[in-house]
Amino acid sequence: MRIAVIGTGYVGLVVGACFAETGNDVTCVDKDAAKIRMLNRGKIPIYEPGLQELVHRNTEEKRLTFTTQLPDAVKRAEVIFIAVGTPMGEDGSADLQHVLAAARDIAKAMNGYKVIVDKSTVPAGTSEKVHAAVAGSTTHAFSVVSNPEFLKQGAAVEDFLKPDRVVIGATDQRAADLMTELYRPFTRTGAPIMVMDPASAELCKYAANAMLATRISFMNEIALVCERFGADVDKVRKAIATDKRIGPAFLFPGVGYGGSCFPKDVQAIVKFSADRKYRFRILESVERVNELQKLVLLQKIERKFGKSLKGRTIGVWGLAFKPRTDDMREAPAVPIINGLIERGAKVRAFDPEAMPIAKRIFKNKIHYARHAYDALTGVDALLIVTEWNEFREPDFAKMKKAMKAPLIFDGRNIYDPAAIRAQGFTYSSIGRP
Ligand code: NAD
Repeated sequence: MRIAVIGTGYVGLVVGACFAETGNDVTCVDKDAAKIRMLNRGKIPIYEPGLQELVHRNTEEKRLTFTTQLPDAVKRAEVIFIAVGTPMGEDGSADLQHVLAAARDIAKAMNGYKVIVDKSTVPAGTSEKVHAAVAGSTTHAFSVVSNPEFLKQGAAVEDFLKPDRVVIGATDQRAADLMTELYRPFTRTGAPIMVMDPASAELCKYAANAMLATRISFMNEIALVCERFGADVDKVRKAIATDKRIGPAFLFPGVGYGGSCFPKDVQAIVKFSADRKYRFRILESVERVNELQKLVLLQKIERKFGKSLKGRTIGVWGLAFKPRTDDMREAPAVPIINGLIERGAKVRAFDPEAMPIAKRIFKNKIHYARHAYDALTGVDALLIVTEWNEFREPDFAKMKKAMKAPLIFDGRNIYDPAAIRAQGFTYSSIGRP
């Protein structure tokens, strides 16, 4: 099929490259000319495992191209995906301006029947708004489909190629059949393609993210209660994980969730529920708990060093909101590092992939370490904020030698407390004695 993807970000680029991989002819469009120039030079603007080789292979085979010219891409496509951002508006709602602008631009360029697919995360009822926006600018026939994306950053290619399920919200059979055909190569191992009404499809994405965010905030609160009783959240976690109704995933306490999705999607569902006169009390708390959890490491540091950190240097391992991505949107590292700076500390930070993005955020306010051990030179303590694999088995002797004091505040529980103490470190983690 001939496909256009509008918006070549974390989602659009992965979606475009994966559809090209199954033999489709894909044009990825973005209004960011610098991004498109970069892609046309063979450079990938984001870090995502496996993406670079997928993009290179498919551009070489001429199945994947990049342009800023939306009309050309629309004219030659049968299916057009909208994968632009839906950032959080000031009142917590999902800001649909980019989605609706893309819809209008698509409509103006149409030269025949098109299937317009909303891949961006949008509130229930948006497909009707997209329909109205397109209908207002074209006389050609079209279908609007809602097709929420469930990929995770850090495993986006793998998730897209092997989805747990594909959700399609469609009101007409022609579009539903075409979408089913398009996704067939990705569902050969039996993952279901679930066709439903658009509002249900749109809500699936919010329900999934809100449920996952709820599990995280719930476990973070269990961890805080564990600390008050000298209990071990790891033992509690492993025990409840064996309950088939609960399962083992998403039970890890930490320094709160971040990223471009959970925070904004939780707030959006609260807002659009309120718009329909429903107060979503659980999710209000999930968000509040998460904001407080981002400050837990700072509180632990304050208990150790007092309110002022003047004259102290603190090392930070991990800046991205999670491992295997360079994305720092809503990353807990941001309020943590800002809190350290406000209290007068000097910060030496390291992340395997997020350093260029961190430099744009913190400018000259912190020291950017060249490697993990460089972040430890002369520090009074190390904070572990993101659980990159390379932090799991470091050279402890080398760490101790570099640090002024062997003190670790671990926000991701990556070490065994007894083992790390045996290495001579003073160690504090989340919810463990
Ligand atoms: P992003 O910010 O990385 O990418 C969006 C891109 O769209 C940008 O490059 C921007 O320049 C471009 N754009 C905006 N308006 C445009 C227009 N009118 N024409 C052409 N290009 C335009 O965002 P993202 O992380 O890829 O997220 C996109 C959507 O997918 C959001 O709704 C998000 O909630 C959802 N989503 C994201 C993830 C994720 O892990 N990032 C997962 C599932 C769903």
